[in-house]
Amino acid sequence: MVAKKGLAELGEFGLIERIRQQAVPAPYLRLGIGDDCSIQAVAAEDELMTSTDLLLEGVHFNLEWTDFESLGYKSAAVNISDIAAMGGVPRCLYLGLAVPETVSVEQLEQFVAGFVAAAQAYGAVLAGGDTCRSGVALVISVTAEGTAPQGQAVCRSGARPGDLVFVSGTLGDSALALRMLQQGKQPSAQLAFRHHRPQARVTLGRRLAETGLATAMIDVSDGLVADLGHILSASGLGAVLHLEEIPLSSGFSEVLIRQPEWLELALTGGEDYELLFTVASESAGDIVRLAAELALPLTRIGTLQAEPGLLILQQDGGHYPFQRSGFDHFSSDKIY
Ligand SMILES: [Mg+2]
Repeated sequence: MVAKKGLAELGEFGLIERIRQQAVPAPYLRLGIGDDCSIQAVAAEDELMTSTDLLLEGVHFNLEWTDFESLGYKSAAVNISDIAAMGGVPRCLYLGLAVPETVSVEQLEQFVAGFVAAAQAYGAVLAGGDTCRSGVALVISVTAEGTAPQGQAVCRSGARPGDLVFVSGTLGDSALALRMLQQGKQPSAQLAFRHHRPQARVTLGRRLAETGLATAMIDVSDGLVADLGHILSASGLGAVLHLEEIPLSSGFSEVLIRQPEWLELALTGGEDYELLFTVASESAGDIVRLAAELALPLTRIGTLQAEPGLLILQQDGGHYPFQRSGFDHFSSDKIY
């Protein structure tokens, strides 16, 4: 098997060298791949934020549905999204790879090319990592570091009763693409792109943090219901959402005509990587102006209240019976 031989011949240090050659420098990165640690310059007025994620073959991705470049892109983008979700500027990314023998050197290079491209798109760099052989599946571990001026980071816990709930972009596209792939159907290019090449809303996150407009914020990775639930429990509040306000893409709406029950995916499907945030009611006009400035839809979907719980109202005033959990790795049967 050629692929097997390739990686074995190259060896761990050969592989690290290949990855180092693909990495791109940045002014703040004093020392990147090749020593025991990376060194980066950090401004005295900044705070450092760090987030880490595990991506497992068979749990988070299926190699039959994705190419390695897209997988690399997505691995970086979803971690950068966590930095965006707190209003940070992404800086250094660290990549851990446990690679089974079935993956070739060429496929790994494609993965790293996608990873580096996503990093560059958001002004971040691949600054280090680790590699080893995996006996079973491909395992990807990514750590992202970002910075924000002291006191600007937006947490999940700052929301207040009466605040308005906003979400960027559209919801459900990625989960719908996944559902179609799981059923052997071909999603449209628009839906597939949303699943394989998610965009991190870094500029929006920064603007919401530096202006102080967002009282609480999170990125939608586990689904609207679950992620709003995190804001509600961290802030000790409840919310009322309006079903008809949930922003849907044209591609999503088209599929809904034939399968209306998939509307659920916009509420409990995951991996949208849009930003869900709350603002004081008097700031609504500022959000409208920000949406125009960024040419990005920012949709008001509901209101927070002191009384705990989450209600989703239909247009007829009835309650939409959504599945409460959203995605939870330890209780969900949703796998790839
Ligand atoms: Mg997150």
